[in-house]
Amino acid sequence: MARPRTEDEIRAVIGACARSGVPITVRGSGTGNYGQCMPLHGGVILDLSAYNRLIWHKPGIARAQAGIRMMELDRQTQAVEGSGMGWELRCVPSTFRSATLGGLYGGGFGGVGSVNYGPLASTGNVLGIRAMTIEPEPRAVELRAPEALLLHHVYGTNGLVLELEVGLAPAHPWLEAIACFDSFDAAIEFGQTLAVAPGVVKKSVTLLADPIPDILMRAVPQLAGQMKAGSHAILMLVAEFSEPGMLQMLGQFGGEITYRKTSEEVRRSNRTIAEYTWNHTTLHALKVDKGLTYIQSGFDPSRHIQQAKALRQKLGDEVLVHLEFIRTKEGVMNCSGLQLVRFSTEERLNEIMQIHRDHGVYIANPHVFIVEDGKQGQVNPDIVATKMQFDPAGLLNPGKLRGWEQRESIMADAASGRISLSTLPSF
Ligand SMILES: Cc1cc2nc3c(=O)[nH]c(=O)nc-3n(C[C@H](O)[C@H](O)[C@H](O)COP(=O)(O)OP(=O)(O)OC[C@H]3O[C@@H](n4cnc5c(N)ncnc54)[C@H](O)[C@@H]3O)c2cc1C
Repeated sequence: MARPRTEDEIRAVIGACARSGVPITVRGSGTGNYGQCMPLHGGVILDLSAYNRLIWHKPGIARAQAGIRMMELDRQTQAVEGSGMGWELRCVPSTFRSATLGGLYGGGFGGVGSVNYGPLASTGNVLGIRAMTIEPEPRAVELRAPEALLLHHVYGTNGLVLELEVGLAPAHPWLEAIACFDSFDAAIEFGQTLAVAPGVVKKSVTLLADPIPDILMRAVPQLAGQMKAGSHAILMLVAEFSEPGMLQMLGQFGGEITYRKTSEEVRRSNRTIAEYTWNHTTLHALKVDKGLTYIQSGFDPSRHIQQAKALRQKLGDEVLVHLEFIRTKEGVMNCSGLQLVRFSTEERLNEIMQIHRDHGVYIANPHVFIVEDGKQGQVNPDIVATKMQFDPAGLLNPGKLRGWEQRESIMADAASGRISLSTLPSF
């Protein structure tokens, strides 16, 4: 295991590995799912957590070394002198406290903030990256958007990212609140109304259907008594100045606020309800109920509310509904599901995923470790071609990218004009 602190140290490790044909698995904080950081063929773990400097920032943009923890980046960009506005990352996973920016880019998708800015891959969120080739004499290369996304969410298999330049969002004083509802329909409709309300500034809207609030109250001592037993909860981060608008909408749907913390209270307690959302919901639930597992899904933005209602009716208590409101890359409001499932057999789990597909809901199976079996869904020739340029000997996280085995036919297809590939700048 190597934990370099400078680009020269990274280059020295990479060069030595490339000369000896030793596999390299890049690691940020190791919170990635799906065994992303698990080396299947041994070799060197290249831990970038000490390569963690914020290089520069200005209103709306920051550039940082890949190993910076997201919470640390926010801490530095949120700080302002005088009455100026602070800035923060546009979307962070619920693991932002420990996870790195490079890890979000290499293995993540989006999270808190995606209700406004969509997933990390939305145009404008990642502006550029600096990446290193895996060769005896490694070279550092700058890729600007859109090519800057060619190394995104491929588990560090097609390039090593040194630096990222990302868009920032205004850092508002975020009020944290939980509203509880007796009816599922009222909860989801309030969630949707809040998520799309243009005049109510928010950072996150999460639906946890009954019985997830009860499970969380058992799992997290700080939440005990903070939600109504047997209810459906909406967890939300709303700008303090938008609280009246949020309450006005809440009145229309008959919800009741059971938890409320101002941004100052959140700051002082060093606790945020964001750490009960996204896959943290799963993590906490699994602590108290080992009979649970989960699936990940993407709804159809033209009918996500109807789909969610129909699936809840069809699957009843077997699937515990957890939805995150998120904008698509195109900007339309949608839901991402991280449904908890009462596990019986693998066959039934697959059936449940199929029922979602039959309802037009896309499944990103979290129970697989190959890039193409997960969210990507199929071999992407551009990703394979990028790997050929950055990692010609196939040393990065080997065994995770199925398309690598098809590289010769992909290149032959490109040469004969059967497919066209994104062009990387020559380097
Ligand atoms: C409880 C829990 C909650 C989560 N919530 C979310 C969520 O809300 N949203 C979300 O998107 N994800 C979520 N995740 C997944 C994960 O936490 C995030 O993706 C996180 O950003 C990963 O950061 P990390 O530093 O831990 O990365 P790691 O786990 O260290 O790495 C992830 C992948 O990226 C690669 N990688 C890391 N750094 C680099 C680099 N510099 N260059 C190239 N490749 C690199 C690694 O090889 C690995 O394949 C969650 C996971 C858990 C366990």
